Amino acid sequence: MKDERRYLAFETGGSKLVVGLGDRDGRLRRTVSLKRGAADRAPLSFARLLRAADELSDSHLHAGARIAAIGFGFGGTVRRSTNSPHVCLHEDGWDDVDVVGALEDRYGVPVFVENDCKLAALAEAHFGAGRGARSVFYVTLGTGVGGGFVLDGRILALGDLGEAEIGHVVVDPDGPLCCCGNAGCVEAICSGPGLARLCRLVAERRPDLKAATVLEPSAGSHRIIAAWESGDALADAVVRHAVGGLAKALGAVVNLVVPRRIVVGGGLGTSTPRLLHLLHDEIDRWVVPYFRRSYSVVPSSLGVSAVAQGAALLARQGPSRG
Ligand SMILES: [Zn+2]
Repeated sequence: MKDERRYLAFETGGSKLVVGLGDRDGRLRRTVSLKRGAADRAPLSFARLLRAADELSDSHLHAGARIAAIGFGFGGTVRRSTNSPHVCLHEDGWDDVDVVGALEDRYGVPVFVENDCKLAALAEAHFGAGRGARSVFYVTLGTGVGGGFVLDGRILALGDLGEAEIGHVVVDPDGPLCCCGNAGCVEAICSGPGLARLCRLVAERRPDLKAATVLEPSAGSHRIIAAWESGDALADAVVRHAVGGLAKALGAVVNLVVPRRIVVGGGLGTSTPRLLHLLHDEIDRWVVPYFRRSYSVVPSSLGVSAVAQGAALLARQGPSRG
């Protein structure tokens, strides 16, 4: 008998909301992406997601096919024991939304909630740059820095509130403050906003570089990367410091859990191949010699669709439990 199960995927994040429809293999076939208003709170975002999901299933679920499960990718911390969103730094109000209850009532199927980075890791491991590798460590460098670890095709779920928080590994104790309260986390120097802040800090500390740079004090990460590619000395010092910090953290990851592949995503992470070459060289500095040939560093290949793709896969697989 033909497998007519289909999977609904949701994604909430900083600036967008996504609903997707996955086929019997959990591969995403259709997506609808909505722009979230900067001041929108969770109840409004959730209502818009539900409407979009209804429209998507009405127009693309053919006769006989049925939604069998739902994956919900949350742009924040998830509490696994209660299968619910915990804290989102970009959008408040998720405490007031019963995500799982509302979706179960509406569709009458199991709903699984997971952190967005973990889902991007899952998607890359199955259908993206991690395909074929037994263990995949995923890191995204964007507005923030997040991570996920996939082993044998499943998220390695170790803690109730997650794991693989590569963004909050302290690599530069004298560095800028991080949103988590510590100073010098990877996120504080190697996210998009972190790189821009680091650039201002380095310019203050190094008047010689400040005098020679083409960069304005307000330069964002795109401008810094472009200046780095064209040989700007301040940009070079900033990027090397940021990538060096990330490499220290990833070197420890390799020494501890020996992932076969490190997949790097996010706007900053995929901005230029040069960044990944530098990253690989720098990671090797911190890796015990006999692990140096054990892993590769590659750019994410699913890009912006990774989270929704991972949500469809999670719906098909069931909950990620360690
Ligand atoms: Zn932090």
